[in-house]
Amino acid sequence: MGRLYIETVQNSGGEGGEGRVRKIFKCKWCKVEFASYYDILSKDFQGRFGRAYLFRNVVNISLGPSEERLLVSGWHTVCDIYCTSCQQILGWKYEKAYEESQKYKEGMYILEKERMLKEGW
Ligand SMILES: [Zn+2]
Repeated sequence: MGRLYIETVQNSGGEGGEGRVRKIFKCKWCKVEFASYYDILSKDFQGRFGRAYLFRNVVNISLGPSEERLLVSGWHTVCDIYCTSCQQILGWKYEKAYEESQKYKEGMYILEKERMLKEGW
């Protein structure tokens, strides 16, 4: 195996993201960066370990196998996501939602608040 390539989180969140204070979520264990605060779509999700956030963009993760899972909001195809550096489980990615009202989550990521550190805020 080659050296791990670690990406830097862009402080994006759409228009005008460049001028903002950099607010980043990092791995609680190995401090690798995962996501920008400005890429949060919702803070109102429930994970395995408590509150979780829905993000539109996450880096430095690896994906587990896809599986069908019954969540609070119905059946979804999801895959668990892991820190690419230390392999801790972080949350999951929505691959497919079956309910029309849940389709906006497809391709989005859940990261558990309890598994992350905040930097810059
Ligand atoms: Zn890690």
